[in-house]
Amino acid sequence: MVRRSAGFVERSKIAVRNQGVTAAVTGAVNRLSASRKFAWAQMDDIQELRLAAREKKAEVIAHLDTYLDTLTTKISSRGGHVFMARTVADMQDYLVNLIRTKGIQTVVKGKSMVSEEAHLNPAMEAYGAEVFETDLGEYIVQLAGETPSHILGPAMHKTKEDIAALFSQKLGGPTLSTPEELTALARETLRRKFLTAGLGLTGVNFAVAETGTIVLLENEGNIRMSTTLPRIHVAVMGLEKIVPTFADLAVFLKLLPRTATGQKMPSYVSFINGPWPMPPGEGPEEFHLIILDNGRRRIAADPDLCSALFCIRCGACLNVCPVFRRLGGGHPYGFTYSGPIGAILAPLMSDLPDAAHLPFASTLCGACRDACPVMIDHPSLLLKLRYRIAGQKTPSSPRLLTEKLLVKAAGRVNRHLGLYQTAIRVARLTRTLGVDSNGLVTRAGLVFRPPAPRTYREMQRHLISKRKKNS
Ligand code: SF4
Repeated sequence: MVRRSAGFVERSKIAVRNQGVTAAVTGAVNRLSASRKFAWAQMDDIQELRLAAREKKAEVIAHLDTYLDTLTTKISSRGGHVFMARTVADMQDYLVNLIRTKGIQTVVKGKSMVSEEAHLNPAMEAYGAEVFETDLGEYIVQLAGETPSHILGPAMHKTKEDIAALFSQKLGGPTLSTPEELTALARETLRRKFLTAGLGLTGVNFAVAETGTIVLLENEGNIRMSTTLPRIHVAVMGLEKIVPTFADLAVFLKLLPRTATGQKMPSYVSFINGPWPMPPGEGPEEFHLIILDNGRRRIAADPDLCSALFCIRCGACLNVCPVFRRLGGGHPYGFTYSGPIGAILAPLMSDLPDAAHLPFASTLCGACRDACPVMIDHPSLLLKLRYRIAGQKTPSSPRLLTEKLLVKAAGRVNRHLGLYQTAIRVARLTRTLGVDSNGLVTRAGLVFRPPAPRTYREMQRHLISKRKKNS
């Protein structure tokens, strides 16, 4: 666990003042949320699927070693190499050694959050390799010298005008005005890199233990090229990305695209099986899978918190989170993973000095739990982390003192029915400020969920009087 400091709070104070970024992110996450809701509404069995996915993930986390052994045996039997990296440094060392021994100068990359977690780009660049992100959003943030702002939409915080200015500055030429022109320029620049790269680095959406298959989902085709054109393909994954069987994979393939982007299926789904070396012109000579622990085994062994590892990185909890939106994306979190799931993983996986603030950066409204395809109960995990952090007896900050006073005042109000009812009536007046499609009031720098239009008692009274009138 980590100690408190002011970093996250300071970053947040700056972020909430940047209304342009907040507006760009709010628009993007609202569109993604609407797509998910629509896609879920088309499925009769969405709740059964969510439950099945949760059960499969629980099975994997409870028997990690068994599934990891099966996966390793299958891949090795077809000529692939599997390396278990206990730490980020182990992962970096393996990759840099590979680049050194194979004389690699250019690397093309598909989007991978684990590669961000393990800081693989700086490690490869420090050795002297040129690294090119090939997912359009990742390419934009790489050119800008930034980190991704969202699991799915790394450049979500940037407007079209920001990107046009960035491309003109970094790639030369006039400032382009349409998304089509900008995409064409990125495509033309990156196409040359695919043809000269010696190594393609990608993430992993799912690794099927039963068959040793690596599964990758994408819309741009850049992963397909990164995994086929260079002579070496390296895939990196957290050890929780395993699914037991191909039949189990079907559940996740139904859930992930629908939840992430509202698509029934993305444009490309790659199943990578080997054997390696592949025939010349058909694929890479070598395949390496690097599996990262970085604290995951410790989380898996924690019965209170292990469900955090069920995450399939769809981004839905970020999209519905009022805090994420208000902060204008993931940068203020200061950790690779942001939003509700990042607030849980940061204090468990990182030694960032201010990670202990993150579990407190939540309204506990529960929208994340309702949107999560694997039914992670974020509010309950966040509360458990809060108890643990509070139990560390670190010095109280002024913010904590304010919180304590507020909780004390709320306790008094809740003990007196009259006071409680008056407080609810007053709080309900905030609904007159306007409630958005997510049930939130966003006014004067604040985002909050107002009380329901009627309490349960009021609804009952209303129903009874209606019945009396009708009888
Ligand atoms: S916690 Fe759930 S909703 Fe959030 S990214 Fe992971 S799978 Fe998606």
